[in-house]
Amino acid sequence: MQEIRIPSTNPYVSLYPDLKVVSRETIHLIKLLRAEGYSVVVEPKEIAELNYYVEKGFREILADPILVYVIGIPTAIITGLLANWLSDIWRKPPKQNETQLAIEFDENGNKVRYSQSGEKISAKKFSSILESLDKRASDFQKSCENPSPIEKRPYPVYIEHTAKVIGWAKNVITRNEGLYIEGLRIIDPEVQQLVDNGYLSGLSVAGIVKKSTCSVCDSDYVSCNHITRRKYDGKECLVRIDDFAIAEFSLVKNPIQPLARIVKK
Ligand SMILES: [Zn+2]
Repeated sequence: MQEIRIPSTNPYVSLYPDLKVVSRETIHLIKLLRAEGYSVVVEPKEIAELNYYVEKGFREILADPILVYVIGIPTAIITGLLANWLSDIWRKPPKQNETQLAIEFDENGNKVRYSQSGEKISAKKFSSILESLDKRASDFQKSCENPSPIEKRPYPVYIEHTAKVIGWAKNVITRNEGLYIEGLRIIDPEVQQLVDNGYLSGLSVAGIVKKSTCSVCDSDYVSCNHITRRKYDGKECLVRIDDFAIAEFSLVKNPIQPLARIVKK
C-alpha cells in the first residue's frame, strides 16, 4: 500500500472543536501530492470535511512545521518532491536547524523521520516538534480562558509580533470585497494613539476557512488542485472565502495581505 497521512492540527481547537483542520500551506502540499498521483489521507479518517486555517498576517510562511507520515513510498522520492515544493514557496530559506517539514517513514517497522533537507530528525527533536504544535493550541486556549472584559466583544485583538491582547472586537464583516472589523475597543492607551495617528492601520484576521471556492474551476478549493496566486492558462487562481470562523485579530502596520483596514466611525 502507498499512502501519505497528514494529521489534523487545529490551533483553535479550544474554540472550534471537532473540526478537521490543517494549515493553508498543508492544503497546498496535499494538492501537490494528489497531482503527483499519491493518495493523501488527513486524519482522523472518520471526519470527512477538511478545513484550513489562515494565520495572523505577521507570521512567516510555514511558521508551523508540517507533519507528513509516508507509507510504502521510497524515502528519496518523497523528500525530493517535498524539498522542491518548499524551495518553490519560500520567500527566504529557513535557518539551518529549523524544521519546517517532518516526514516520517516506516522503514521495516522502524519509524524514521527526516526534515525538509533530508537530515534525520532524532526522536527527541521530533517530540519537541509535536510539543510546539500543542503549545500553539494551548496558548490560544489560555488567551480565551480570560474572557473578554467588554460585553459583546468576544474576540481578542493582538498587536503585531506579540502575544499581547490590546483590545477586543465584536465581529468582522465583509463588504465590497474588504473585511471590516466591527466594534473594536482598544484597552491599551499607547496602542490607541498609534491607531489614531494612522501608524497601525492594517488588520490581520486569523481563523478557520470552512468553505471556499476556486476562481479557476469554480469548485471547492480544498478538493481542486489549483493553488492560489498561480496562473492556469493565463488565469490567476483566486480564492473566494464563503464561510469563515474567526479566531483572533491583529493590528498591524503593513499587513502581508491587505485583508482589512480599520475604519473609524
Ligand atoms: Zn480549482
